[in-house]
Amino acid sequence: MSSSEFSIIDDFFTVKSTKGLPPILGVGDDCAVLDVPNDKQLAISTDTLVEGVHFLVNSEPQSLGHKVLAVNLSDLAAMGATPTWASLAITLPSINEEWLAAFSKGFFELAEKHSLHLVGGDTTQGPLSITITIMGLLQKHRRLTRSGAKVGDSIYVSGAIGNAGLGLLKSRSGVVDLNDHDVAAYVRPSPRVQLGQQLLGMASSCIDVSDGLAADLNHILQQSGVGATIQHQDLPLTDSVQQHMIDIADEVWPYSTGDDYELCFTLPSIVNIDSIDQRLEKKITKIGVIEEQAGLRIQAKSGELINFSKGYEHFNGK
Ligand code: ADP
Ligand code: MG
Repeated sequence: MSSSEFSIIDDFFTVKSTKGLPPILGVGDDCAVLDVPNDKQLAISTDTLVEGVHFLVNSEPQSLGHKVLAVNLSDLAAMGATPTWASLAITLPSINEEWLAAFSKGFFELAEKHSLHLVGGDTTQGPLSITITIMGLLQKHRRLTRSGAKVGDSIYVSGAIGNAGLGLLKSRSGVVDLNDHDVAAYVRPSPRVQLGQQLLGMASSCIDVSDGLAADLNHILQQSGVGATIQHQDLPLTDSVQQHMIDIADEVWPYSTGDDYELCFTLPSIVNIDSIDQRLEKKITKIGVIEEQAGLRIQAKSGELINFSKGYEHFNGK
């Protein structure tokens, strides 16, 4: 590595904080050294974002620094894990200090909010691409998984669905205005870390909505060996998303748009949601029920059942 690459690491990726669990050894040596408390287990996940594939070419760097960490935090949220450490591999086409300063600001603002330490990484030259490996802690044997949904459980989703998908369309076709709620949902998603932790011991299954509600809920259904019906009228949609669905005459559009980073989870019927929802950080909405019959069905307002198990297709009169 060249001396200028060393100074990039010093200037933009070395931030020491005493919050949370600092590493025993962080950025600067050949490896980071981390101490996992005896009563805890480590949850690890990696996500890569490639320019032109996962984010728009010439994306604003501060938002990008936020987003790349947010999508990784969202995976920890879906397990109920407490974020602790991350490693950042970044490939840059050139050294642009202004860009790096903004990226680092977006990254560390969100890291600080979650008491997360950047403990190491790699810096290379090439087409812009960012990979984060994120680590979080779980009490031993206490976690949310995709595989525990049972027949009769209720299906919930946090926040609202489809805003990030709409924000992507708006960002593609014009200026990226962070005051626009949909654009903000796309470029600055808020991972539901606190909600995931609050669901530990309550939710029978959980996933974060990154590829679209239908695709992600299908992962829960397949891994739990169950099926589900969603009541379309109960889906939490903002006015902007509802208007977009009218404009494009597509009633099921929000089921297959990605990037929402909300949590979709199931709760057994014995859990009384009314008694706990004041404690939850985010509005949650019941959208359907787990059933024995495999597959994902959406009950439209008309009463028609739409099969959403693979892409989507209409049932013939059933
Ligand atoms: P090596 O040659 O052993 O791969 P590097 O020279 O790539 O080490 O990195 C030097 C130190 O800086 C290491 O501790 C590494 O973890 C850290 N590092 C490199 N790039 C980054 C980055 N983008 N963010 C955080 N830490 C980084
Ligand atoms: Mg290296």
